Amino acid sequence: MTEIPTGPGHRGPKLHVSNGTRARGRAIVAGAGIVGLSTALSLRRAGFEVAVREREPQIRQTGAGLGVWQHTITELERIGLGPRLSEIKAEQSFQRFRDPSGAVLDVGDMPPGRVMHRRQLSALLVSAVGEENIRTGKEVVDYTEDEAGITVHYADGDQERADLLVGADGLNSRVRRRLVPGSESHYDEEGHHVWRAILQFDGDIGDGYPTIGYHRTRGTVTRLADGSCFWVLAQFGVTGGFTGSPRQEALARVENLHDGPSRFVLREVVLATPEDSVLDNRVAVVPEIPRWKSNRIVLAGDAAHAMSPHIGSGASLGIEDARVLGDRLSQADIAPALDSYQTDRIARYRQVRQHAKAMAAAPTPVSYVERFSRYLNWLNNTAA
Ligand SMILES: Cc1cc2nc3c(=O)[nH]c(=O)nc-3n(C[C@H](O)[C@H](O)[C@H](O)COP(=O)(O)OP(=O)(O)OC[C@H]3O[C@@H](n4cnc5c(N)ncnc54)[C@H](O)[C@@H]3O)c2cc1C
Repeated sequence: MTEIPTGPGHRGPKLHVSNGTRARGRAIVAGAGIVGLSTALSLRRAGFEVAVREREPQIRQTGAGLGVWQHTITELERIGLGPRLSEIKAEQSFQRFRDPSGAVLDVGDMPPGRVMHRRQLSALLVSAVGEENIRTGKEVVDYTEDEAGITVHYADGDQERADLLVGADGLNSRVRRRLVPGSESHYDEEGHHVWRAILQFDGDIGDGYPTIGYHRTRGTVTRLADGSCFWVLAQFGVTGGFTGSPRQEALARVENLHDGPSRFVLREVVLATPEDSVLDNRVAVVPEIPRWKSNRIVLAGDAAHAMSPHIGSGASLGIEDARVLGDRLSQADIAPALDSYQTDRIARYRQVRQHAKAMAAAPTPVSYVERFSRYLNWLNNTAA
């Protein structure tokens, strides 16, 4: 067993943040996803020295498009990424939806959205955090907590001390399951299933308005800034029992989105997708948990609240968690800051869950869009 050197700081007075001032403490963030990396930036702004520890040998550079809103941009700016956001190219925006007849469902107050490449956002966050502050191949398997700090234990036998541990380790968070026994993730009650891919497709893809179709199916295709295409198909109420490949199952859902035999771009794009490029997920979620923290351990992002992706904002909300945590830690000592963060987050997610439920239960395409619009306006206007 090796103890990872933590710098002189944890045991002595010489812990520093990058501007040379003395750090308020040392934090370990478990997980280098979008939320873990955002948390590192936010905690650094609060005066902490931050070390990010990622289980995988490399930071995930895959994934498809990510829907972002004004809320996402505001939160990224608030953790200090504003001046660098132009490095992520602006991509096609959408504000309207269609029904299967092709009619536009214009609910008037739908906030504009954009789609960015996850990989680009992740790369920008890594660069802002600094690779020297991130270690890969470090799987957190346990932690112990005492009055003076925490010890994080890794799968390879190493251990490391710090003042604070943030579990940003995603849907199946080890930190959450240790902190809140019985909080295992489970498949979404709505039977939500998602198929998606990115591919090179040079043909015309139309206006990119998402379609809200029959049998609780939704789908869209968007052009990303690098010229590639991102498509996504999703359906509630899927009970499994698939007989086809992921691409065939996706094609079967396309039929729920389009009346009549005329040309439908999404069908063409799915047909043009190489079979092995189709990502296919049965949606899993985290149950509502009664606590997000102890005195020195705290959760953020999917680790605390992975929800069905039909709200199109899990990452955005996780970045908000990161920012709120940093705000609270800049205003108070660790234990009271975590108290205040938990109170704020539990109340916030109670409302997010209500919106998510209402959307999933929408009886018609237009009511789905109205509820989505209501949710996004609420999200854009209510971050603490
Ligand atoms: C199909 C789908 C579509 C979505 N679309 C959108 C969208 O359009 N807009 C949006 O805002 N959100 C969307 N989301 C939600 C969004 O993807 C997530 O909310 C977000 O990526 C969560 O980020 P995270 O950093 O919390 O978790 P993750 O991205 O899961 O990152 C967790 C990290 O922790 C690491 N890790 C795990 N265990 C350990 C361990 N024990 N020790 C160390 N490291 C560990 C993992 O390897 C990973 O790198 C979508 C989700 C899905 C499934």
